[in-house]
Amino acid sequence: MKIHPNRIPSEGVREDAVYDPKALDLDRPDVQVLPPINVSAMIALADRELVVDAAIQGRLKLICSKCLSEFERELRTNAILTYPVSATDVVDVTEDIRQEIMLAYPMIPVCQDGCRGLCGTCGQNLNLKACPHTPSVPEHSGR
Ligand SMILES: [Zn+2]
Ligand SMILES: [Zn+2]
Repeated sequence: MKIHPNRIPSEGVREDAVYDPKALDLDRPDVQVLPPINVSAMIALADRELVVDAAIQGRLKLICSKCLSEFERELRTNAILTYPVSATDVVDVTEDIRQEIMLAYPMIPVCQDGCRGLCGTCGQNLNLKACPHTPSVPEHSGR
């Protein structure tokens, strides 16, 4: 998203953009961003400062740190970016948007509260089924 400060009306302007995650180099080994990424920005010019209030929304495909299964989760974050500008500048906010998206990643993805992870001995996904090596895992009766 490129912004021309000299075209921003005094009351501000809303601008929407759709990003392709592939173009942004966003992937982390356990995090992938699914297309599209929607950015809705409220842009205002105050004195010599450009203020971009961006709502970012997308979907993440994550790998659970405990059981290694893939799961999806919504990504939603808000960022207020400010840039000192002169009237002739063109401000490209793409790199800052990219960083805000990566900051919104979960630090350690976990597929669900209380994910039981994998058995260290046989690798069984303990969310799906118990195994003989983990007697300490409480099994709910009646299943
Ligand atoms: Zn898990
Ligand atoms: Zn096991």
